[in-house]
Amino acid sequence: MVFEIKAYERKIFSLISEAAAEIDAPTYIVGGYVRDRILGRPTKDLDVVCVGSGIELAKAFAQKLIPVPRLVTYARFGTAMLKHKDLEIEFVGARRESYRSDSRKPAVEEGSLEDDQNRRDFTINALAISLNTEDFGSIIDPFNGLIDLQNKRIVTPLNPLATFSDDPLRMLRGIRFASQLEFDIDPVTFEGIQQMAGRLKIISAERIATELNKIIMCRKPSRGFMMLDEAGLLEQFFPELTALKGVEKKFNIAHKDNFLHTLEVLDNISKHTDNLWLRWASILHDVGKAVSKRFQKGVGWTFHGHEVVSARMVPKIFKRLKLPLDQKMKYVQKLVGLHHRPISLTKENVTDSAIRRLLFDAGEELDDLMVLCKADITSKNKDKKERFIRNYEYVSEKLRVLEEKDKIRNWQPPVSGDMIMEYFGIPASREVGMIKTAIREAILEGEIANEYEAAFEYMKIKGEEFLS
Ligand code: ATP
Ligand code: MG
Repeated sequence: MVFEIKAYERKIFSLISEAAAEIDAPTYIVGGYVRDRILGRPTKDLDVVCVGSGIELAKAFAQKLIPVPRLVTYARFGTAMLKHKDLEIEFVGARRESYRSDSRKPAVEEGSLEDDQNRRDFTINALAISLNTEDFGSIIDPFNGLIDLQNKRIVTPLNPLATFSDDPLRMLRGIRFASQLEFDIDPVTFEGIQQMAGRLKIISAERIATELNKIIMCRKPSRGFMMLDEAGLLEQFFPELTALKGVEKKFNIAHKDNFLHTLEVLDNISKHTDNLWLRWASILHDVGKAVSKRFQKGVGWTFHGHEVVSARMVPKIFKRLKLPLDQKMKYVQKLVGLHHRPISLTKENVTDSAIRRLLFDAGEELDDLMVLCKADITSKNKDKKERFIRNYEYVSEKLRVLEEKDKIRNWQPPVSGDMIMEYFGIPASREVGMIKTAIREAILEGEIANEYEAAFEYMKIKGEEFLS
């Protein structure tokens, strides 16, 4: 089979081929680039392997480009990288790897193309394209990767147990590729993952998070999560999520499986947003349900305050998974903490002040919060589901109308702390905060209008009360 080379590639490939001939090193394109091009997926990373010195090849190639690009070399790893237009091209010498049990970092020595293909994780990642004059453009496919691409299969080239034991990150990569490409994992390969799941302990949290985030960004992330769970991997790094699994029954009353519910919400929200952190909010929105679960006689199962418990769990989970602890974590925490508010407002208690408070508390995150709330409606009961959706739409409309009228979102009360200090001639103090809060509350409650005059008058009254 001959790889169909596009015009823009022909130029680059030919120049690499010329450079390879000059330094007399057989050269190939390998791995993800070949896979993605055959699948018709966009790809920017071009990995070039030569039987010889990758750095020498990169230097010879760079000389052929005008202007000569900057070459970044990593002598220790024998690799060199350069950027050309949209492509990031990496050069490395073919190598052979051997592993020890306590590390995923192998001992490396020079090797043949075959050695280099043998060390790759899946058959679809072990394809190579020749850049050599005698067979330029032909595909070298020792493990039938092309057939696996066609049959949409993730299979290890060699014994799966050895493959996963050597580098356990491959277990996550396999599940990630199956999710991204919507492929199936070959049963023997999957059993290999199940058997080697315990080896995950030598993988750093950062690496796990990278793969997990890629799974979360898939079209239907639940599939990847189910595979992670069945493989015995999920519980190792995300026990809070697997704790939501299962249904408990008392006096014939059951609650829903909150693990499956969470995954359904994640799939729902993924149809509407590519914001990774909003997707994370959906994963964590009910995470406190395992600890806030109670059975109350005459009422049934309750999860009172689960949104507060869930929000409190967010920083710890982010920290352990080495996710960013900055604004992104705060954003997720805020959405999780507020996720119950819109839907718990029903026609009977949708007062203007309740809506105003929600606008104020959600602020900039209101739209995302509403996306989360809508995704959260997963009831199997048709009447219940319709009722929830009607209620959701009612609340949305109320929010829109009131926001238009009062402009509470991103709102700052019309009287500032500075104004209070200046008027009363006092320094920054607890009292200033109390007056400020009182003004804000009065506006949110609708007791006074959201305008300077009214707020200033109210400030005088409260000042007398708190300062005398
Ligand atoms: P993506 O770029 O979407 O992450 P990829 O397959 O290109 O997918 P890279 O990490 O860019 O992954 O690696 C490039 C190639 O290197 C892979 O296609 C594979 O052949 C090989 N490779 C990467 N990581 C491993 C690994 N842990 N074990 C074995 N081979 C690997
Ligand atoms: Mg890649």
